[in-house]
Parts: sequence; structure tokens; C-alpha cells
Amino acid sequence: MKYFSKQREENFFNVRVKSSGGEFSAAQLGAIQTLAETFGAGRIRLTSRQEISVPFIEEKNFPAVENFCAANDLELCPLGATLKTVTACQGREICRAGIIDAPKIAREIERRHGGKILPTKFLIGVSGCPNNCMKVDTNDIGIVGAVKPIRGELCNFCGACAKICPVGALTVNREKNLWAIDETCRHCGRCVKVCPKDLRGEVGYKIYFRDGKIFPFVRDETTLYEIIDAAINFFADNITARQ
Ligand code: SF4
Ligand code: SF4
Ligand code: SF4
Repeated sequence: MKYFSKQREENFFNVRVKSSGGEFSAAQLGAIQTLAETFGAGRIRLTSRQEISVPFIEEKNFPAVENFCAANDLELCPLGATLKTVTACQGREICRAGIIDAPKIAREIERRHGGKILPTKFLIGVSGCPNNCMKVDTNDIGIVGAVKPIRGELCNFCGACAKICPVGALTVNREKNLWAIDETCRHCGRCVKVCPKDLRGEVGYKIYFRDGKIFPFVRDETTLYEIIDAAINFFADNITARQ
């Protein structure tokens, strides 16, 4: 694997350290500081894929940098046509709007496919809810946490769910005993949070593909990974370089 990319400045190279689902530990940050001060110019940059880049490394230091990173739990990003670092927002562990554990899913995809050599580079990102802070629909595969509302028998047609819905997907009419949801639902789960009765939210995943196709609702994590595995394997077997 090659990790060092040539800089514009003669004889200097840049190396990138992967985050783990968008996270670094404090110990890793300390080690990256040492890395930049010992082998670079004491400078770091953040990349768009949640990596930390350390520039101004000289070729003679490549082995020492690789050894230092291996000894300090720092994973280097391979260059070229590979699965790039899987990005993730903070997800439900930290964010109040979060529906799924986005960092955990990113880590599992990394565990299955991290650094895999592919015909061209391949991007995957995970957003914890339909707010989609990570803009994952601009990746080759984007995963977004989703909630499917399911009405219970205790509904009294109060209309609170319809009132809070940001896209007007719900129609509630007490006189007609009508409760209906249409296809504009973006699976945000806000209606579930305000219901005083038994509106339930089934947690799942929306999957976006680069070509505009969407899996509207995937119910479980096992199926999610089966779809991701199949998509990456299809890409590896059927896409030619530069396609
Ligand atoms: S996408 Fe949702 S869960 Fe993730 S940071 Fe944004 S609001 Fe929070
Ligand atoms: S908020 Fe709950 S009880 Fe009220 S209309 Fe919606 S589903 Fe029914
Ligand atoms: S999940 Fe969100 S978009 Fe869908 S009906 Fe409920 S409030 Fe509206």
C-alpha cells in the first residue's frame, strides 16, 4: 500500500490519518501532534473525509512514519482507487436528533471493506437522521437513519402529528376518523415524538446511490450490510477504471 502523496513543494509528501467513524481519541490526537512536529512541519489539515492530513514529510522518513503510526493506533489512508474513509456524523449517541448510531455503522463498513482496492475511488457516508448533515447523498453510497411511523389503535385523531410534520405528509381528520400518510414522508420521526397516544416509529435506513436510486426503507442492520456488500462487490466486478 502507498500512503504518501507528492506535494507541490519539491521533495515533500503528505500523509493522511483515518478517523474511526468521524472520531479520534485524545491519545490519537496527541500522537498526531508528535507525528507532525517530529516528521512534518508542525502543521496539520482536516480533510473533507474526516481525516487528518500531515504535510511536509520527507521520503527518507517514510518507514519511520509508518512505524510510528502502527505503534500509536493511527491508521493511514491508502492512496489511489480504494474505498475511501467512511464518514459519519455523531449519530444518536450524542445528537438529540439522531436515529441511528452512524459512527458504529461507518466502523463496521470499514471493518468489512476498509482500504479495498477498486476500479476507481469509492465514497460512503452515514448520516444519523434525515437532516443529513454529512450530505451523504453526494457519495457513491449514502446511508441515512430513518423512522417509519406506524399508527396504533389508541389514536384519537388529535392531529398533533400532522401539525408537526415538516413536509405535510400526514392527513388527520377527526370527523372522518381519517389518518393517512403519503409518499412525501421523509422519515424524520418528529410525529412519533409528539404523539400523546401510541404512534410508533420503526427505525431503519434509507440508502442513496450515486445514480439517484434510493432504497426507501431498509429494516435491519443485517440487510443494510448485505446491500452494501453487494453494491461494493458489483462495483468491483463490473466497473472499469475512469467509468
Ligand atoms: S444528521 Fe442528524 S444525527 Fe447526524 S448530526 Fe445531523 S442532526 Fe444529528
Ligand atoms: S398525534 Fe397520535 S393520537 Fe394524535 S392523531 Fe397523530 S397518531 Fe393519532
Ligand atoms: S416521519 Fe417526519 S416526515 Fe414522516 S410523517 Fe412523520 S413527521 Fe412527517
